[in-house]
Amino acid sequence: MGKSFASFGFRPEVMQGIEDLFYKEPTPIQEEAIPYILEGKDVIGQAQTGTGKTAAFVLPILQKLQLDKRDIQALILTPTRELSIQIAQEIEKLGKHLEVNVLSLHGGTDIERQLSKLKHTVHIVVGTPGRVLDHIKRGSLHFGRISTLVLDEADKMLEMGFLDEVEQIIVSTPQHRQVLLFSATMPDLVKKLAQRFMDQPPHIRIETKQKTVEIIEQLYYVINQSDKTDALVDLLESVNPYLAIIFANTQQRVQQLTARLQESGFAAQALYGDLSQNKREQLMKQFRDIKFQYLVATDIAARGLDVEGVTHVINYDLPNDVESYIHRVGRTGRAGQKGTAISFCSPRQKSLIARFAKATKAKIEEKIFVPGRHLDAGRKERAKEREEYFVKLREEKQKEEKREKAKKDAPLREALKKSAKVKPGYKKKLAKEMEEWKTQYEQKRRREEAKAARKKTAKTAVKKSR
Ligand code: AMP
Repeated sequence: MGKSFASFGFRPEVMQGIEDLFYKEPTPIQEEAIPYILEGKDVIGQAQTGTGKTAAFVLPILQKLQLDKRDIQALILTPTRELSIQIAQEIEKLGKHLEVNVLSLHGGTDIERQLSKLKHTVHIVVGTPGRVLDHIKRGSLHFGRISTLVLDEADKMLEMGFLDEVEQIIVSTPQHRQVLLFSATMPDLVKKLAQRFMDQPPHIRIETKQKTVEIIEQLYYVINQSDKTDALVDLLESVNPYLAIIFANTQQRVQQLTARLQESGFAAQALYGDLSQNKREQLMKQFRDIKFQYLVATDIAARGLDVEGVTHVINYDLPNDVESYIHRVGRTGRAGQKGTAISFCSPRQKSLIARFAKATKAKIEEKIFVPGRHLDAGRKERAKEREEYFVKLREEKQKEEKREKAKKDAPLREALKKSAKVKPGYKKKLAKEMEEWKTQYEQKRRREEAKAARKKTAKTAVKKSR
């Protein structure tokens, strides 16, 4: 039995917030990190989303918050606007009984509205590095009095190219503030950042395998590329997941797949990077409220998404790297609930699955897909289409051969035509010859007639003289 939340000595309002969310006991990252953070130490927490890392830094921040002060007391930097909004919401929920004022500053929303909110007391700011720096440069934000700075998903933030912005923001904070850095991985850039700005932080590591092995069932089906959409429709019909996130690798594939699912009568919506901020937020709210069941998304759009009750994650397209796989799979099995991760993999992608299994130290079991009516019908349809295609191809080929032959014979035909060509004036000549010939014929005929007549007359004269 681990520690209880009460053992941290949280104030009653914070304990009430924890109770409201039905958190029974601290998760491993909370158990290890919270005491250090409460002591005021800098801390590196190496943990994925889904481990309860947000509450691990939010609870101590709330504990130390001085509500009577008008200054911003904590700044939390996150890589994406979704994550920023999500963290702000979690702070609002956990800090409800403290009446904490939190502001999410992220791109894609009206900067004027954010500015007007900043005129009121704001205790905690959560934001993306670009937008936060924007406010610092405008002079609308000052972090001169903050006591805690959190760099959440630091690896992602630097991977997205925010190093410059993050450094500029850090130097705008007081020298003796506490820095908390959370990151799923610790690449060199993150280590260097920690070395430069953190003071002997303890490094807490929470292994992902604890989570994935124990509560997420992982399996895959070997499916041909052309069968995938029908197979997915069959799968959803047979499994009927309560709430699922379906990953495809490009925006276009997300859109096409969503359209197909909608056509087949499923409550599905598409989430991808190009959607407006408003639309994305609206979609996420509807998904959380279970207004639709299937969220079809690209990786970037779903980064950091935390939706309770996601029973299934489906990799319609396999991700290309281990990190994305872990991230996707981690969208289910949240807060200790069971989840299932299903991947579609082509025969050639089996080695990728083996890599994911090795990296997550989990068993990803191969299951045999039982085709349903859609896949069967789809295959028949595709076989018919293929046959029609080949018939057309054969016809095209025959036509082509004919054209080729005609092309080959063309010089010969041309030569024949030339030799048979009527010379200019030949028709006239022919007519003249015909005329002459007719005259000759006529003359000859008349001569013959005259001769015959003469003969006849001579015979009659002989007879008379007798
Ligand atoms: P995170 O890793 O911060 O993205 O959190 C993952 C999920 O776990 C969120 O839905 C939190 O609300 C939930 N959570 C955080 N701490 C606890 C806890 N001690 N017990 C149960 N759920 C928790």
